Amino acid sequence: MKLATYNAAGQTRIGIVVGDRIIDSGFGGTMIDLIRDWDALKDGLAALGAAGGGAMLAEVTLEAPVPRPGKIFAIGLNYADHIAESNMQPPERQVWFTKAQTSVNAPFADIAIAKGTMTTDYEVELVAVIGKGGKHITATDAADAIFGYCVGNDVTERMWQHASPQWSLGKSFDTHAPMGPWIVTADEVGDPHALGLRCFVNGEKRQDSNTSHLVFNVWQQVEHLSIGMTLEPGDCLFTGTPGGVGAAMDPRQFLKGGDVVRCEIDGLGAIEAVMAAEG
Ligand code: ZN
Repeated sequence: MKLATYNAAGQTRIGIVVGDRIIDSGFGGTMIDLIRDWDALKDGLAALGAAGGGAMLAEVTLEAPVPRPGKIFAIGLNYADHIAESNMQPPERQVWFTKAQTSVNAPFADIAIAKGTMTTDYEVELVAVIGKGGKHITATDAADAIFGYCVGNDVTERMWQHASPQWSLGKSFDTHAPMGPWIVTADEVGDPHALGLRCFVNGEKRQDSNTSHLVFNVWQQVEHLSIGMTLEPGDCLFTGTPGGVGAAMDPRQFLKGGDVVRCEIDGLGAIEAVMAAEG
């Protein structure tokens, strides 16, 4: 099933996406509430989706599937080609940082280039959305902890990223965590480690890889994070970006006002944004 958070006539709703249509779920809570109640809701929602109807997707405004996740964690240095282009060594342990809740952005909304910054970069990533979650989840059981997946862009302000040993500030600018266009439930995705993912800037392909190349796979990521921390419904994990970021190009190519950035993942869809330079 594909589940989207959207706005129609000024109201935020959750809808089931079927083809080019979106069907109001009738659910009054947030996506986090829906994920929490999923076992009780899923059959009814599947029936609603099968009945068809609804509005054209083009007529509604999609919001981020989880507009305010409890936690957003992102792993660095998790594709071999990106580690090499970053002149880093493969990490022995997983390297995690957080992105602020307030950096979440809708899938087709403008991304802000903050005033005075000039090193804004893109990173297409598979995002895992936590379902049941929990603590002390083993890699063997991790698949059961995940609700679904969506496309993310781990937009990064490189100068700020490297201004301190902690990357979180340079990863947490407003609008720098666009996600969407919807969540595809885990059962429909199947193997999350066999998905092609690509990023385009103004139509030029900059990143082109496959989640089969993840250094630490999604199951290992869930195991590692849940050692000491409870993963909760709707928490979002950015699972790493492949090579091809602007900072590694020669000469370096950072995003500028008016650029169009498109991130797509097989089976999940695409998100696309115009870069908007703040005055
Ligand atoms: Zn990243």
